[in-house]
Amino acid sequence: MSPTTAAGGIQSSGEGWDSVDDDCMLCEMEQCTHWYYEDDELVIADNLVGRPFVIWKDHKQSVSIDELQTVQHRVRGIFSDHELQVIMNMVPDHWHAHIVEPGGDRAYLRFE
Ligand SMILES: [Zn+2]
Repeated sequence: MSPTTAAGGIQSSGEGWDSVDDDCMLCEMEQCTHWYYEDDELVIADNLVGRPFVIWKDHKQSVSIDELQTVQHRVRGIFSDHELQVIMNMVPDHWHAHIVEPGGDRAYLRFE
């Protein structure tokens, strides 16, 4: 059985962070996977298929250089050897990046 995930039909339970967009999968992300790190700005967690990614909590499509450095600093504290791949095909309007092994799939745009 797959749970109903129709956009707009789910209310935040108060878990996770304050939703800013009821229709956004990431704004409504609940702590149903392993979360490595959370602070006021970002979350580092496994996604639903068990691959780690980092989500900037503010609902926006891009992050500033300063914010990206914060992301990289936090991720580096958990994943010593990694690359960030910004793949926003599932949720294009909420910035997040996938944390992959160096030399992984480079088919996607990524930050150096
Ligand atoms: Zn969002």
